Parts: sequence; structure tokens; C-alpha cells
Amino acid sequence: MQGSKPIQKTVPFSKLQIEKLEKEYPTPFHIYDEEAIRAGSRRLYKAFSWVTTTDGKAGGFKNYFAVKALPNPYILRLLYEEGMGADCSSLPELLLADAVGIKGEEIMFTSNDTPAEEFIQAKKLGAIINIDDITHLDFLEKTAGIPKLLCFRYNPGDDYSHGNPIIGNPSEAKYGLTHDQILRAYTTAQQKGATRFGLHAMIVSNQRDEEILADAARLLFSLAVEIHEKTGIRVEFINLGGGIGIPYSPVDHQVDIEDYARRVHGHYKEIIVKNGLAPIRIVMESGRAVTGPYGYLVSRVRHVAKKHRDYVGLDACMANLMRPALYGAYHHITVLGKEDRPLDHVYDVTGSLCENNDKFAVQRILPEISSGDLMVIHDTGAHGYAMGFNYNGKLRSAEFLMQNGGTFKLIRRAETANDYFATLDFEGSDFSGLARNKATSPPQVGNKK
Ligand SMILES: *Cc1c(COP(=O)(O)O)cnc(C)c1O
Repeated sequence: MQGSKPIQKTVPFSKLQIEKLEKEYPTPFHIYDEEAIRAGSRRLYKAFSWVTTTDGKAGGFKNYFAVKALPNPYILRLLYEEGMGADCSSLPELLLADAVGIKGEEIMFTSNDTPAEEFIQAKKLGAIINIDDITHLDFLEKTAGIPKLLCFRYNPGDDYSHGNPIIGNPSEAKYGLTHDQILRAYTTAQQKGATRFGLHAMIVSNQRDEEILADAARLLFSLAVEIHEKTGIRVEFINLGGGIGIPYSPVDHQVDIEDYARRVHGHYKEIIVKNGLAPIRIVMESGRAVTGPYGYLVSRVRHVAKKHRDYVGLDACMANLMRPALYGAYHHITVLGKEDRPLDHVYDVTGSLCENNDKFAVQRILPEISSGDLMVIHDTGAHGYAMGFNYNGKLRSAEFLMQNGGTFKLIRRAETANDYFATLDFEGSDFSGLARNKATSPPQVGNKK
């Protein structure tokens, strides 16, 4: 990782464009930049273009986009057009991939604590099942049956020490098989009828150091050699998992994807090729790095309050982006139309939850803010909307895809109070009526029997 100069955090749309959009769709909403997502995807594929198929042909690399990062079918479809598959870990995520037309081995099913119906659905779709625990082999056999192709998730425990606060130390992580278990798992799976194999680990999260990222690949390459030596089994692909980081803060290092891919290639030649195991396909499950930097949460300032501190209250809240509250994560903020104003004020930027963690920024240096200002919170394209929740009766926002630099396609409408009440059946009460009468007259929750 080289020393880097601060990144310019810019916004790909203008204040005028937002004001136009807002006439029809009130803030807050997320906007994803299609062109930038496509450009980033192409760059990733180009960096790994040295990866060959099992027949030794070009084009062996695949990223299975982690659906949990941005579970919107319009996004999945455009990534599919760029050659990506889907990494799913729940039934609804499998249904989403299927709806988009992502098929068979284009789907990686990397789950944990998995219920039978998910294994059954994954097997039905022909997805690659990635096993998280040794006991799941028997469970899979009894419920869905053992597929021909199986992948195992490895947890290196204390053998890997670059842990990070989000995913933590591997020895404390709930995921994957230990070294001894994974060796046994391959032979057991073979006895149960599997004939093709993959190897997976995800041991970094939001990691921006190329050397550490590549080191995770090195660890898996060595394990593939050991599996071959001890069991005679050759894995046909190695799945490096997700975890490529992005620079949330302008002073964060930006991963040099070409440098990372070169380092992985170096380990591949040194370990896989030298031991006569090539070709092994390299795949990954990157989510954050694929869409994260290309999403923006747009929100209006409701109130500016001066108390013991100065507060900017937005119309967005933790329901729209949870990372700052959950992890204390930094998300850059641009005030539209005030980009050139002096940065001479300090604010906590908050949402409206009755929960003091509901802050997008704490003691952030910003230009002077007035009520009605438009704020853009950066890097919300992954683990942003997706983590939303309805605590305090807060509703999730709309999502837009920005296309051709200026068209905004609504790819998910905002929730309404009706959506919030949709799962209730309270003594025949018509909550949809409640939703319509919101705010005007305090509604009676009547019993219409
Ligand atoms: C979350 C997750 C990913 C995606 O991680 P990113 O940080 O978004 O790249 C990939 N694989 C698994 C198993 C995950 O849990």
C-alpha cells in the first residue's frame, strides 16, 4: 500500500437535477451511477483477465456479486450483463437471482446456519453450494441431496492474523471449517458422490491493503495444494470471497485493483502453477467494491439546532444508512451548491430516530448549513439501503439508477405507511386508511366488526 494523496469526493449529478427529481419524488433517496458501476466492473475483470477456465481458455474469472450488498434486481441485471454472477445467502436472495435470469453455477450459495428449504432451493436452481460447516454435509444429503459440485468454506483461525474490526479475528468468527475439518470434508463429500470441488474463504472485510488482500489468496492457494497432496482431490476453482475495501474517507487509500490482481497472479504462479495444479479458476464475491462508491444518499436538511453542540437534522435517518451508527463508519458528505464555501463550522449530522446513535457524522467540519440545504452522503452503494430497517416506524427510501449521465430511473419506490402496516391484521382495522390520514387528524384504531 503506497502513501496516497487525498481523493476528491465528487458527486456525478447537479443540484438542479436533484431539485427536478425532487418535484416528483421527495427526499431522501439513494442514487446509483450505472456508468461508474459498469466501468468499475470492467476494470476488475480486466485486472483478472489472466485467469483461465478449467480448459485453459481465457475468461476464467468471475465475480459473484454479493447480493446482500445491494439487493435490487436492476443492479443484479446490469452486473450480470457485465459477466457477474450472484452470491446469495438466503431464500429471497436466491429468488432475486433467479428472477434476473442468473442461472445454475452462475449462482454461489454461501450461507451459514442454513435451513433445509434454502439448500433445497439452491440445489433446484443448480447453484454452487458453499458449505459452512462439517455437519451440513449430512444435513444437505438428507434434505436436498449431495450435488456433483460442492465448495467448502475455510476458516484459518489463528493462522491468519490480519483481522479487522468488522469481520474480526478468524478464530472468533462463526464461519467456515477448520483446517482438519476441511480436509475430512472433501473426502467425505467424495464418498457421498460429489465429483467436482471448490474452495472458499472470506477472511477480510473492507480491506484496502493490496498485500493483505493477496495474502488471503496465498493462504487458499497453499491449502489447495495441501488438499491435493492429502486427499488427491483437485479443486477446480478458488473463491476469494468478498472484502475488498473502498476509501470512505478522502484520506483512505484506494485499492489499486491491478496491483492486487498482479500480486494474486504472483502467488498463483508460485504455488498453483509450480505444484502442477493449474489451471484453477479464480472467482470472488465482491460486493462493496463493485457498487459501494457509486451510490449516494440524497437528503434535505430539516432543522439546524444549537444545543450543547450544533446539530443538522436530516430527513434521512439510520433506516436509510446504518453504517455510521453501527460501526462508527465515516461517510463523506457534500452539501450541494456549497462545495466552494469555507469549511468553518462543526456539526453532528443526525436523523430523526429516538436513538442517539442515529448520526451520519459526529463533529464533522462543514460549511455553514441552513435548513433546506441538500446533503449528499457518499459511498452508499453497498450495505446502505440493504441494511435498512423500520425501527421507530421509519420507512425505507426510494432507489434510483442514474443512466447516461442524466436520466434517473426509479428502481424501487419509497415505502409508505401501508407497507409498514402490511403484515398486521389487527381486529379488522383498516391500516391503509390510517396511512392515508397520516398527520392530519390523530387516527382512532377502530374495530370495524
Ligand atoms: C458480506 C459477504 C460478501 C461481500 O462482502 P463485501 O465486503 O461487500 O465485498 C461476500 N461473501 C460473503 C460470504 C459475505 O458474507
